[in-house]
Amino acid sequence: MNEDEIRTILQDMPTSVYGFCFHDDDGTPFVVLNARQSLERQRKAYQHELEHIERGEMYDPDYNEYGGCEK
Ligand SMILES: [Zn+2]
Repeated sequence: MNEDEIRTILQDMPTSVYGFCFHDDDGTPFVVLNARQSLERQRKAYQHELEHIERGEMYDPDYNEYGGCEK
């Protein structure tokens, strides 16, 4: 996975969410970070999402980060 392909989106979300990732129809990976979290939290969340992407987990149809493991 080439990290340059990863698009990052900053978005206001509930503070219980740190971030999640998804891919579009072309398979381009996106990391969405919560703009309401601290910069440090956003960095950690980014690293965390990167690991999901590197493991290919977001291509698993059962994978749902938004409802998942970001606590
Ligand atoms: Zn996760």
